[in-house]
Amino acid sequence: MMTNRRFLLARRPRGQPVPEDFSLVTAPVPQPADGSFVVRNRFVSLDPAQRGWMDDAPSYMPPITLGDPVRATTVGQVHSSKNPDFAVGDWVMGLNGIEEFSLVAAGGFTQKIDVSNTPTPSYFLSAMGAVGLTGYFALIDVGKPQPGETVLVSGAAGAVGSAVGQIAKIKGCRTIGIAGGPAKCKRLTDDYRFDVSIDYRGKSAEALAAEIAAAAPKGVDIVFENVGGDVLDAALMNLAPKARVILCGLISEYNSPDGKVGARNLWQLIVKRATMHGFLIMDYVPRFAEGGAQIARWLSEGRMRIDEDIVDGIENAYGAFMKLFSGANQGKLILRLP
Ligand code: NDP
Repeated sequence: MMTNRRFLLARRPRGQPVPEDFSLVTAPVPQPADGSFVVRNRFVSLDPAQRGWMDDAPSYMPPITLGDPVRATTVGQVHSSKNPDFAVGDWVMGLNGIEEFSLVAAGGFTQKIDVSNTPTPSYFLSAMGAVGLTGYFALIDVGKPQPGETVLVSGAAGAVGSAVGQIAKIKGCRTIGIAGGPAKCKRLTDDYRFDVSIDYRGKSAEALAAEIAAAAPKGVDIVFENVGGDVLDAALMNLAPKARVILCGLISEYNSPDGKVGARNLWQLIVKRATMHGFLIMDYVPRFAEGGAQIARWLSEGRMRIDEDIVDGIENAYGAFMKLFSGANQGKLILRLP
């Protein structure tokens, strides 16, 4: 008999999540009612944003309810259906949970995907999923990169950051990437075509600011911020006039037990007449097909690459998720289910 293993939020983490914050339970496979269908999840996206959804704090989405599966974007196939628009076997992507089977109500966010031209359906969680498209829309629509401009990317070896660096190069920009450790910094220049890499580990904001200044003596035109804290403070000290700071993520604060850290050098926005813009990929869902098609073209032309870090088995969900915060993930982190 088939069962449904589900990775539930058992309690709200305080600071760094620990295994006791979650529970893995076995439940019956859900049955669809009229209008709904059941998806067998094949790939589950593990994202830093999930940490924020675990907190009971005002956000762009309600917090995950205790006892529910940890909310996650998944790619899978329709397993059973009482919805005429979704047939058994159809590939779909949607906001579901870390579980083997998800019941999807009519009118939900789930949409069909055409996996025939992609190397693997998991690309709808990486290159053509929310992270690749975050890099694409945030850089193009908000940053408006011009040839010859300098783009500084933090979290640059990660899923979003590596996409941003490559798209900025395609747009004719000079790119500086910040990442943790020599191996990741080598990947920035070898794999993602960054012009300069900077290792942030063990450095103060002042030391980092000096390294950025050496790499960009005229300042940076676009800051693509994924990290926050000292890294953002260092970037703010290196703005070119009329710089654009794209606030995409602040991962260094997500597990902070003392609350949010904030930025110390905001006064530089005044000095440089710069702008800072908060970006949320959800606003771009109606344009996913457009962005996905462009990224697919760049991938097929060999102008862009995407790396996926695939972890097998729902029983490894906790350990896999924590790779995002230790920096152990090598590319877009995805949980693969049997
Ligand atoms: P990544 O693949 O970049 O993985 C996370 C990486 O963050 C780690 O590998 C690690 O890299 C780095 N990191 C973790 N903790 C710290 C820390 N304390 N200080 C500095 N770096 C740290 O994840 P994603 O590409 O999925 O996400 C990157 C960012 O983009 C996140 O902030 C996320 O919240 C944001 N995001 C925002 C979206 C939006 O719509 N606004 C959509 C998607 C993502 P290293 O080894 O280099 O330290």
